[in-house]
Amino acid sequence: MFSGKNRTQDLIKCQSDSYDLIIIGGGITGCGIALDAASRGFKTLLLEQLDFASGTSSKSTKLIHGGLRYLKQLEIGLVHESGTERAVVHQLVPNLCLPQKMLLPLVEGGSFGKFSTSLGLWVYDFLADVKKEDRRDILTPEETLEKEPLLNPSELVGGGYYAEYRTDDARLTIEILKKAVEHRATAFNYCKVIDFVYNANGTIIGLKAIDQLSSTTLNFKSKIIVSAAGPWVDEIRKINNSINHKKLHLTKGVHLVVPHSRLPIRQSIYFEIPDGRMIFAIPRDKTTYIGTTDTNYTGSKDNVRVTEADRDYLLKATNRMFPGITLTPDDCLSCWAGLRPLIHEDGKSPSELSRKDEIFEAKDGLISIAGGKLTGYRKMAKRIVDRLRDILEDQIDLHYDKCQTRNIKLGHFPFENVEEVSQCSEQLKQEFRREGLNEEDAEIFLFNYGKATDEILIYYRDFKTKNPLNALILAELKYTLTHEMVLTPADFFARRSGRLYFDIKSVYSNLESVISYLSEYFESSEIQITNYRKEMEQQLFMVSHYAKEDS
Ligand code: FAD
Repeated sequence: MFSGKNRTQDLIKCQSDSYDLIIIGGGITGCGIALDAASRGFKTLLLEQLDFASGTSSKSTKLIHGGLRYLKQLEIGLVHESGTERAVVHQLVPNLCLPQKMLLPLVEGGSFGKFSTSLGLWVYDFLADVKKEDRRDILTPEETLEKEPLLNPSELVGGGYYAEYRTDDARLTIEILKKAVEHRATAFNYCKVIDFVYNANGTIIGLKAIDQLSSTTLNFKSKIIVSAAGPWVDEIRKINNSINHKKLHLTKGVHLVVPHSRLPIRQSIYFEIPDGRMIFAIPRDKTTYIGTTDTNYTGSKDNVRVTEADRDYLLKATNRMFPGITLTPDDCLSCWAGLRPLIHEDGKSPSELSRKDEIFEAKDGLISIAGGKLTGYRKMAKRIVDRLRDILEDQIDLHYDKCQTRNIKLGHFPFENVEEVSQCSEQLKQEFRREGLNEEDAEIFLFNYGKATDEILIYYRDFKTKNPLNALILAELKYTLTHEMVLTPADFFARRSGRLYFDIKSVYSNLESVISYLSEYFESSEIQITNYRKEMEQQLFMVSHYAKEDS
């Protein structure tokens, strides 16, 4: 069970415990560290100010990729690490990290020539140690058009065809966290860290947090504290006055979601636009999503919006690449905007800043980690927990294991390999058909919940008699309330099910039933129920309206 049902008592109990490690931030970085540390024997607590993955880790392009673009910047180490990690993440969770061929159209006057692309993709495959059958192909214009007939034939000179992986960032984060909890880590969402507690020597020995749901102050003790607060890392460093010459540089990236029927690409496409930047168009379920932008950001970190200019930039770039397509703002179903927590380098533009991670150690013991990518979460976690082990083993007579995460498969009932995922997919489709459910939903549930879909189907059969129209979504909700620490309808719609982005219609049609079941589950007060509604109104507004400018 990973549920908020006994949250108040759990919070009280944890304040009398003493931890080896407290992690600030429940994005992929913090959750990755929690799994690495807990599986090595650290007594671990993770605190997240809002919901898990509510920061950048639900706002990415959702690719587990090597970062072909970084080859141009000669970031060989980064490409090698993320390239090889792709295959590892795929093995750890093959239902949620799916191989995806990427088509890179080569166009007249573009900066990618046939020879340079072939060489670049060869180096990319080499650095990532890609299996022979998945290695790159260079296509003729005819072959490229066959793969994607929507491209402009008059400007095509060929295509690069290579392998990446598609995931869902928020689901990957929650799967990693659930596994950390299986290894006895403790984690709370909606707990905002506000201050540190020091001993007489000025070393941090604990922290204060606010339970955002009850507004009570909480105190926790720990031997060591790591901040994995993503874009908020410098806010945390302000608390202990530890900001030095190394600072964060935030850049904003946005994505738009349109119906697949309005941009019916057959596969993922990575295309160059006239300003030299690269854009992804990725089909997912009944939609296609397009992104991303990369602009400096100094506005509010708590209210990052897609602006009209961001939207128009992506629509214009897409319409130019696919001449038969005329997307307009009315086609956009949903959108999201996220912040890259990069490390500042003087004189560099957003796209030139390195995506490498860095660790900052303050004199009072606070350790912060920033930068990096979704893809490299496991290696980032290993680096930091290796460092924590050295620090703690020096201070006290304790020994922790070596990193285990290479062999810790994710998911409650992990898949052995892709073949098992395919078998399971066939069985689930049959079961969905037998239950009178949509076969396509079986694929979505398998991607999101893996073998736990069986448990969801058991709940579904119970709900079917009472709520035939909402039975499947209520079953999904019940699973996430019981096993994924959903506390609000927004946690469910945005970060566990992904419906806010990829099936917004289902949010509108099920909103009241979800609020009603969740309120019953938590015995919520009238004020809480009003807050659930207000939060959902705000979330729905954010994904369907565009700001005039950054706030
Ligand atoms: P976050 O996910 O932001 O997590 C930090 C958490 O700390 C937040 O949830 C926040 O609420 C919490 N926090 C902050 N302050 C406090 C506090 N006081 N108390 C408690 N908690 C606190 N990477 C890839 O590998 N593939 C991609 O396709 C990709 N695409 C991207 C596209 C875009 C537009 C962007 C912006 C990034 C992309 N990335 C991609 C990068 C990747 O998404 C990020 O590197 C990663 O999600 C960062 O995770 P994080 O855990 O460090 O930060």
